[in-house]
Amino acid sequence: MSLVYVAGQLVDKSEAKVSVYDHGLLYGDGVFEGIRVYVGKVFLLEEHVDRLYESARAIRLEIPMSPAAMAQAVRETVAANKLTDGYVRLVVTRGAGTLGLDPRKTADPQVIIIADTIALYPPEMYADGLRLITASTIRNHPQALSARIKSLNYLNNILAKIEGSDAGCVEAVMMNHLGHVAECTGDNIFLVKNRVLSTPSTDSGILEGITRNCVIQLARQAGYEVRETTLVRHDIYVADECFLTGTAAEVIPATSLDGRLIGTGKPGPVTRDLLERFRKLTRGG
Ligand code: PMP
Repeated sequence: MSLVYVAGQLVDKSEAKVSVYDHGLLYGDGVFEGIRVYVGKVFLLEEHVDRLYESARAIRLEIPMSPAAMAQAVRETVAANKLTDGYVRLVVTRGAGTLGLDPRKTADPQVIIIADTIALYPPEMYADGLRLITASTIRNHPQALSARIKSLNYLNNILAKIEGSDAGCVEAVMMNHLGHVAECTGDNIFLVKNRVLSTPSTDSGILEGITRNCVIQLARQAGYEVRETTLVRHDIYVADECFLTGTAAEVIPATSLDGRLIGTGKPGPVTRDLLERFRKLTRGG
């Protein structure tokens, strides 16, 4: 049995419903988070709750409960599902309203918490790396919708993901409106060159990934230099190593872009070291 938190209650997933008039559904008007549970503990819960409230604030959505109550509701949903390792999807919608965009004509923002499992990529990709293509669909223009808002509007990322699938790739690199590297459709991107790490800065039009920030910290603690900077596609082509980070993806090597091998075409030593450190941090041992 799987219990979902909706309208302030835990109900069986078959009973977990929102209105077809919810502006989250009608217009993608809402925000969300994806959070991991490792060995019975919700990983970086406070960071995720903070980002959720920042996203909501940015779209002028008032979440009808405090951050502390939200964190507690997440922990209770995880506990009710006896989930020790899994994935939480936390969604806040604008709520049901009249037809028409006006958010003032909505009532009751809906908080939905799903605690389940996720397997984004097959295990062999963590060992061998995944292939990437460059998507022609760009990341959101920052003057249209800040990529730092984790909103229910993922259509341009989905279009880029389809471009990836069409090319037989599970991920695709998205550029920003200036042609700089932004991120992948659901993951942040890191390069390694001469053992120095670099990743697009937040002003490159990216979601400021919580896994990204965690890996930056892990890498610095391990003595690596990490630069948050502007990157172009050329930097990926000439990198020694490349890897992606995300809550669902964790840390995963990427070994080619647009059919060109990155470095040796195999997961490199720095990537493997950080993957190992991330696993230790999350799973212990
Ligand atoms: N970029 C995008 C576009 C994402 O959707 C995500 C989350 N899936 C990430 C990066 C990674 O962010 P986080 O590490 O916080 O999950």
